[in-house]
Amino acid sequence: MPEKIKIALAQGATCSGCDIAVLDLDEDLLKLFDVAELCFAPLAVDAKYKDVEAMADGEITICLYHGAVRNSENEHIAKLLRKKSKIMVAYGVCAAFGGIPGLANVTSRKADL
Ligand code: SF4
Repeated sequence: MPEKIKIALAQGATCSGCDIAVLDLDEDLLKLFDVAELCFAPLAVDAKYKDVEAMADGEITICLYHGAVRNSENEHIAKLLRKKSKIMVAYGVCAAFGGIPGLANVTSRKADL
């Protein structure tokens, strides 16, 4: 039996709707798990950052990263998963274009609202 591909479902600043969209695949997820292993997905799998740090570079086949980068933790996990993944996908409008978290960039803490 061929080795399963490794999938990570990671997040930055997010509403987690992107996670729910994946989990909404319901029983079709079981078909995916015939050929793939969910190696990191904080919403669904008990894997820690240290588990990702222990992986070889490029060990994860594909990472779906959702949410925006808003703080140093988001930046750390995004860069770590970029290093550990063969393919990194900006999954959802927040990851691709900033989305709702990105609206914080159009103002500042000092701005009069
Ligand atoms: S794209 Fe952003 S707002 Fe939409 S479901 Fe994903 S995390 Fe939530």
